[in-house]
Amino acid sequence: MGSLPTEPFLPLDPDRFTKESKAVVDFIADYYRQIELFPVRSQVKPGYLHDRIPNTPPILSEPITTILHDIKTDIFPGLTHWQSPNFYGYYQANASTPGFAGEMLCSGLNVVGFSWIASPAATELETIIMDWMAKMLKLPSTFLSGHLGGGGGVIHGSTCEAVLCTLAAARDNALSKSDGEGITKLTVYVSDQTHFTVQKAAKLVGIPTRNLRVISTSRETGYALTAEIVRAAMDADVAAGMVPLYLCGTVGTTAVGAVDPIREIGEVAREFGVWFHVDAAYAGSAGICPEFRRFFDGVETADSFSLNPHKWLLANMDCCCLWVRCATKLVDSLSTKPEILTNSASEDGKVIDYKDWQVALSRRFRAMKLWIVIRRFGVANLMEHIRSDVEMAKHFERLVAEDERFEVVVPRRFTLVCFKLRYVGEDIDEEEGTKCWEMNKKLLDSVNESGRAFMTHAVVCGQFVLRFALGATLTEIRHVEETWRLVQEKASELLMITNELGWKLKTL
Ligand SMILES: *Cc1c(COP(=O)(O)O)cnc(C)c1O
Repeated sequence: MGSLPTEPFLPLDPDRFTKESKAVVDFIADYYRQIELFPVRSQVKPGYLHDRIPNTPPILSEPITTILHDIKTDIFPGLTHWQSPNFYGYYQANASTPGFAGEMLCSGLNVVGFSWIASPAATELETIIMDWMAKMLKLPSTFLSGHLGGGGGVIHGSTCEAVLCTLAAARDNALSKSDGEGITKLTVYVSDQTHFTVQKAAKLVGIPTRNLRVISTSRETGYALTAEIVRAAMDADVAAGMVPLYLCGTVGTTAVGAVDPIREIGEVAREFGVWFHVDAAYAGSAGICPEFRRFFDGVETADSFSLNPHKWLLANMDCCCLWVRCATKLVDSLSTKPEILTNSASEDGKVIDYKDWQVALSRRFRAMKLWIVIRRFGVANLMEHIRSDVEMAKHFERLVAEDERFEVVVPRRFTLVCFKLRYVGEDIDEEEGTKCWEMNKKLLDSVNESGRAFMTHAVVCGQFVLRFALGATLTEIRHVEETWRLVQEKASELLMITNELGWKLKTL
């Protein structure tokens, strides 16, 4: 039951706006101050919230202070604290003060710039900032706006949307050229490390699941594709009367951070007239530093390229930058021209209507956020941010390597360290392989149950590995060292138990 309505209904009164927004900002600042006190991964059981939140909405208004109080008592326990310095799960979601300021402004202005006229600044700033980003990353000029042949960038909410849109564009472009060859002939190429979003997108655009070619990778190639194997797969399809459509290469795969050889596989894609997308959702941000650009070598062979500044470039959720070499293909596939949106600017064809570059009609003013992040930090600080994260990850990698009970399983490229407790001896039979898997799984569980750090896992070549994905904005070297001590402590506890059972893992 709420109280009687003692205050007038003023949904956007500037004075109340100031007062309540300040209370929220203070609340969030306190959250950041105390964030290390919370267990990093939520420890609640499914359905925990059911008994804490009334099952009907309030009829009368409630004060913001009461609501904030309830957030603390009821919502916080059910949070996994992504902004905790000890969050090393999945890939991080970078929050920052300028990122938050950008979100506030985006939200405060709350314009919906689906077409140029719906807010010219939203569209024009997005075009300019996407060119800024392209220049920071030293992308080829073919991705810049105004380039002959029509390249350009757009900000999506997620890589999943970016992949979906590019695949739809590739599909429609191929179908317009084919002489009666149906969609059932189109094939899509990914590796077993490619993000599952490509599979989902293929399904959504109507490409039969049987036409998805999932190419196996191996330890020898660092879990990356090779040109030979991609070519062989495409050759086989052509010979069978299929039509190769789309290849996705990745810089920094989700599970292990592998890097596909972009130039080599891009050239194969060109040979076959296949749309080549480069997904650099996580690692793309590293491309602002010259020393990491070698991983993007050959990106000029790509038809499209995407990365998520909301992962590693201090832009709060959500923000995915997508560039295409030929915007017309994207627009041809995604544009709609309803009467109610007709306007002379769009008809004259001199403006961009970003609704034709994405799934939804409505769109947020995300360029505002990226603009503020880049201006407030400057490129130099953003580079420093990437570099210091990589240095901290290197430090963790060294700590793992120094402890003979452990091994680093996949070569580290950026800030992801994949490691596991090692089994002693050369030949590991099935039973011992299973034990090793169980042991590492137990280790991960006990680290996460401690609440002092949070990591996730991957499975590579049948091995269960722990993923230490560094990159939370608040992480400092002391957190890295403390987390490593935690892992060692949990490992010692486990090994003590299992050694009594006679299992041959290394002990100190
Ligand atoms: C995180 C990630 C994605 C998915 O990104 P969303 O923006 O959540 O759709 C895709 N690919 C890679 C390589 C990723 O790391």
